[in-house]
Amino acid sequence: MSKKDIIDKLKREVASMPQFDLKCGVCHRKYGKYFVFHHKQYIDSDKIYSDFSDTYAYNEYVLPIIKKDPNRFALLCKKHHTSVERLKMFTPENFERLIKIAKESRNDGRFRTKSSNTTRRKVRGRGRKS
Ligand SMILES: [Zn+2]
Repeated sequence: MSKKDIIDKLKREVASMPQFDLKCGVCHRKYGKYFVFHHKQYIDSDKIYSDFSDTYAYNEYVLPIIKKDPNRFALLCKKHHTSVERLKMFTPENFERLIKIAKESRNDGRFRTKSSNTTRRKVRGRGRKS
């Protein structure tokens, strides 16, 4: 087994823990490529990603830590990891106001996701044309 295979195997093993359940903590998409263990809380002794030369070296370091202390982490798909990192950049005040306006801007569950678009189109096709 190559170094990559060993790390991938360990990553999947950690992702299978009940805390993570092999799915994104936000959208519940099944564990797969580009999934990330996101640090919710850092402790002083934690090294950060940029301390390492590559993703494998970092994973080799961090996966045993996650295994020991899973509640400090969340398993996220790439999209939701990016979203969380972006939201973290706002000040607490701006974050609260942003979330308030975003919530106020939602309309009756008509989210623009690929799957719901397909479903809606099918339903429309079968029924009346408006
Ligand atoms: Zn997700």
